[in-house]
Amino acid sequence: MKYFGAHVSASGGVVNAPANARAIGATGFALFTKNQRQWTARPLTAGEIDDFRRACEQFGYAPAQILPHDSYLINLGHPEAEGLAKSREAFFDEMHRCEELGLDRLNFHPGSHLRQIGEAESLDRIAESINLALDRTHGVTAVIENTAGQGSNLGFRFEQLAYIIERVEEKSRVGCCIDTCHAFAAGYDLRTAAACDATFAEFDRIVGWSYLRGMHLNDAMKPLGSRVDRHTPLGDGEIGWECFRYIARDRRFDGMPLILETPDESRWPAEIGTLKQFAEE
Ligand SMILES: [Zn+2]
Ligand SMILES: [Zn+2]
Repeated sequence: MKYFGAHVSASGGVVNAPANARAIGATGFALFTKNQRQWTARPLTAGEIDDFRRACEQFGYAPAQILPHDSYLINLGHPEAEGLAKSREAFFDEMHRCEELGLDRLNFHPGSHLRQIGEAESLDRIAESINLALDRTHGVTAVIENTAGQGSNLGFRFEQLAYIIERVEEKSRVGCCIDTCHAFAAGYDLRTAAACDATFAEFDRIVGWSYLRGMHLNDAMKPLGSRVDRHTPLGDGEIGWECFRYIARDRRFDGMPLILETPDESRWPAEIGTLKQFAEE
């Protein structure tokens, strides 16, 4: 079973996200469980937690269909002690909120060295940050998203994802989310079925298929290897529909959230509709 969805709004409260997903015909969704541009949020109330769980049940969304995303402010590989400590606390809070909401995975960007420390040192910090969060939570998998490699962001090479995972103690609670736009910007070709075969074979060889916990389906505005992170609607960018048809038809992507982060929300129902059609071919 394929779970296609989009990163929907949780404005007015997380309880609204499942209905927003249902309204666009999604069989999965992503959300922020707090304002993604703020460091802290007041804790979820028991009522909010109950309402969210009930809404998910009502609209038929199980945890495997939902991929929450953490705040953009968090940098788990931060070069400075203060920034690192603040990020680790905020990340723990995000993991804890997922746990409370009954969600089983949290998607996050690994981190950035900010040109102040080396790549390996920053990657070591990211792995340690994950270990610290896993120690303090239960049942939630830390899902590392590959990046476009813009600026000093790490996690753009599959080797970097593998390096982090290798250093995480609890392997059953660490995973990956591959963003097609980010992968393409980082130099992984996805424009044809043969290119997809090669890229996903490389992912399997370097990281391991068993770690894949979700996908972000985005087309890319900039050319292969640009290292620039600019999403476009599916079919409008440099990747093109063949990649998304490939993913929709490939059983290896069953049972995990496949999430649009494409810029034109009005096109989400049509994008999801086309993906569902591909899956049924
Ligand atoms: Zn992301
Ligand atoms: Zn993404």
